[in-house]
Amino acid sequence: MAIQFVDIARIHIKAGNGGNGAVAFHREKYVAAGGPDGGDGGKGGDIVFRGERNLSTLMDFRYKRKYVAQNGEDGRGSRQTGKSAEPLIVRVPIGTVIKDAETGLVIADISEEKDYVIAKGGKGGLGNQHFASATRQIPNFAKPGFRGQEMDVTLELKLIADVGLIGFPNVGKSTLISTISSAKPKIANYHFTTLSPVLGVVRVDEEASFVAADIPGIIEGASEGVGLGHDFLRHVERCRLLLHVVDVSGSEYRDPIEDFKLINRELVNFSEELAKRPQIAVANKTDIATEEDIRRFKDFCESEGIQLFVISAATRQGLDGLVQTVYNELQKLPPVVIYEPEYIVPETEIDGNSFSVFRTDDGAFNIDAAWLVDMLNTTDIDDYSSLQYFQRRLRDSGIIAKLEEMGVKEGDTIRIDDFEFEFVY
Ligand code: GDP
Ligand code: MG
Repeated sequence: MAIQFVDIARIHIKAGNGGNGAVAFHREKYVAAGGPDGGDGGKGGDIVFRGERNLSTLMDFRYKRKYVAQNGEDGRGSRQTGKSAEPLIVRVPIGTVIKDAETGLVIADISEEKDYVIAKGGKGGLGNQHFASATRQIPNFAKPGFRGQEMDVTLELKLIADVGLIGFPNVGKSTLISTISSAKPKIANYHFTTLSPVLGVVRVDEEASFVAADIPGIIEGASEGVGLGHDFLRHVERCRLLLHVVDVSGSEYRDPIEDFKLINRELVNFSEELAKRPQIAVANKTDIATEEDIRRFKDFCESEGIQLFVISAATRQGLDGLVQTVYNELQKLPPVVIYEPEYIVPETEIDGNSFSVFRTDDGAFNIDAAWLVDMLNTTDIDDYSSLQYFQRRLRDSGIIAKLEEMGVKEGDTIRIDDFEFEFVY
């Protein structure tokens, strides 16, 4: 069965909102007026991406594109905090790169079997139990929960190639990768065929596998004048070990030893990074090679101190040993390089006091602040203490100072989302 690697998907994620704080008052028989005891809202559920080694495609994301975590519960009376929502787990294969769809910046590189919080749930709002003071004994308002983060992300599955196959055209790279892995490349008896990397998962046994990539183009691309592009290079540069394949039979009247040296010279030009990787030589086509051919190449490898495997991709001779050895070698090598996240979701978007103020053409002051909109939506403007609290938040967060700095005057228009106010001292 040919495995199709669907390697890009775009999905929408939305973390849960925090529950609202409660407005409640202590009630007891024979006690006339109790104090405020509204509990806080629970936290909204995070969107968590979980790297899993046994997944290999992004196929599922073609059918389900929206991932919404549950909201936290609202607070209740008697100081009861609302229940926080469980995180929503999105399972992705190791090697998935998550990017912000709008900016294209990397948010996370899922390179390990662990959890990555990608969108944070909103914190719960405070209940009115927190807002009693000497001057305000009956706080009949509470804070709404904060909104959970919401965004579009793209998922890119760059299968991480552990092993790269290099070698002169027609030595049998495509044949080898197709026999040891799930990849189904074109196999052709002519040069310059595959110019895109072909990746395949090589199963060693039930538990163990690695990914091999056919890296064409070191010679093919160069002699064809084909630019292989930065993406290609970035991809193959992640591999940790190179299998350098030669046609030991010299079936095309080429000398495997000369080819081996030639490819290694080209490799340095192609990528210095890649040239530093450890190599295992693979003498292929032994089914049509003479003892003499094989001996000659063996001697060469011995004198150069290069580890050698003698195989026939066509008859599968020697492949099990090769696969097992490659796997064992990989266990000793350091893990592949990981992309550092370029974009960290700013904390302030979630629960800070961040805001921005800009002036529109009509002279009004526009305030951009998600938390403020949340608050306004649940503030009863006609209620005196609520309004007071709102104004205090405006002052504490530095918004008033900013407005003054920008030259606000009595009677100027202030806009927050759909709300409009007149500025009064
Ligand atoms: P690539 O250019 O390195 O990818 O080489 P291919 O895998 O396309 O193989 C080139 C030719 O060599 C094809 O005709 C294959 O059938 C043949 N070939 C590959 N491996 C072997 C082998 O072990 N023995 C023999 N006799 N032929 C092989
Ligand atoms: Mg090929």
